[in-house]
Amino acid sequence: MSFATLWESLLPIGRNGPSGGYRRFSWTPEDAACRAWFTQAAAERDLRVLTDNNGNLWAWWDPPGLPPGAPGGTQAVVTGSHLDSVPDGGAFDGPLGVVSAFAAVDLLRERGCLPVRPLGIAAFSEEEGARFGVACLGSRLLAGAIDPGAARALADAAGITLAEAMAAAGHDPDGIGPGDDLLAAVGAYVELHVEQGRALADLDAAVAIGEQIWPHGRWRLDFTGRPDHAGTATLADRRDPMLPFAATVLAARQAAAAHGALATVGRVIAEPGAVNAVSARVSAWLDARGPDERVLQTVVDQVLTAAREAAASHHVKLEAGPESVTPAVCFDPGLRERLASSLVARGIQAPVLPTGAGHDAGVLASRIPTAMLFVRNPTGVSHSPAEHAEPADCASGVLALAAVLEDLACR
Ligand SMILES: [Zn+2]
Repeated sequence: MSFATLWESLLPIGRNGPSGGYRRFSWTPEDAACRAWFTQAAAERDLRVLTDNNGNLWAWWDPPGLPPGAPGGTQAVVTGSHLDSVPDGGAFDGPLGVVSAFAAVDLLRERGCLPVRPLGIAAFSEEEGARFGVACLGSRLLAGAIDPGAARALADAAGITLAEAMAAAGHDPDGIGPGDDLLAAVGAYVELHVEQGRALADLDAAVAIGEQIWPHGRWRLDFTGRPDHAGTATLADRRDPMLPFAATVLAARQAAAAHGALATVGRVIAEPGAVNAVSARVSAWLDARGPDERVLQTVVDQVLTAAREAAASHHVKLEAGPESVTPAVCFDPGLRERLASSLVARGIQAPVLPTGAGHDAGVLASRIPTAMLFVRNPTGVSHSPAEHAEPADCASGVLALAAVLEDLACR
């Protein structure tokens, strides 16, 4: 199977030696190398490659006899995922879906299948939001779920805006925004992804069908105090923003545990960051997810209330607000049924699972029918170099994806 060759050719790009994890951030040289890999994989298969105005990559297998991009043609079937990573992320989150897509196309060709409607492979830009802070940025722009001007102004940790980073990478930032014509031509998007939990290991199944994505979001909290000398400022005189920050982290854990939700503070910046000084400012990011929107709102309200109370008691100023909030997503029931029957027809056992992780398929679900396939991750660990899927399970994923694409695009 072509999976191993494709997988190994992508593996060295953006790998950080000491951690063994990946740093594939959008519009960087590593991102350019991932894009070149995608273009080459598509070229080797005679697929037509396009970069849309938002920087998302598309490789098209056009049905024979139908002119490329023919207006009024039958709606396309698209699969894929993303190639960017979180800082020191694993090899599978994102790339598994893109590599499996190319491998599934190879399998369909080996079987002599031909598409009767366009079959596309997509790699969405900045899915993790690792550089500019907004998850699924490429698909959000495509779907019209974020204002293009606001997106252009997003800045990375070094103060470089999305517009500047795109321009430096040779992509025109003025063109970003909704891709209504492109979306109107897509009838279904099926994303294969490594599971980011251990449900499949417990169920003893290699692949699953996605049911829904928990509502989730990111909130930024800026605690501003007064910088001071760690050796001379008395405790009573301090306005230390680190203290309400610490209380907020504990409150997040307590609120999540009390409501069956998840809350994480995984990023914090203390300024000026001196060992021997009280901080001037602590900026923190809260990631919260819940089984429904009411629970999510309750958890976030509790955390923000605790943050405000702690800030007030330490005479620290707090500014807090959402950076991005994504409502609950139920994947298209009709498309999900079609996936299920494709797999059942080939004797593939695939349970139906919800997930707490966001995906481009979740963002695009507001505009087009979307569905997901998950591939077993034996430890459930993700966003970490320890993220893994066994080769046999990756092969099962390709078989499942090929089955679905055959039924959706070739019949
Ligand atoms: Zn992902």
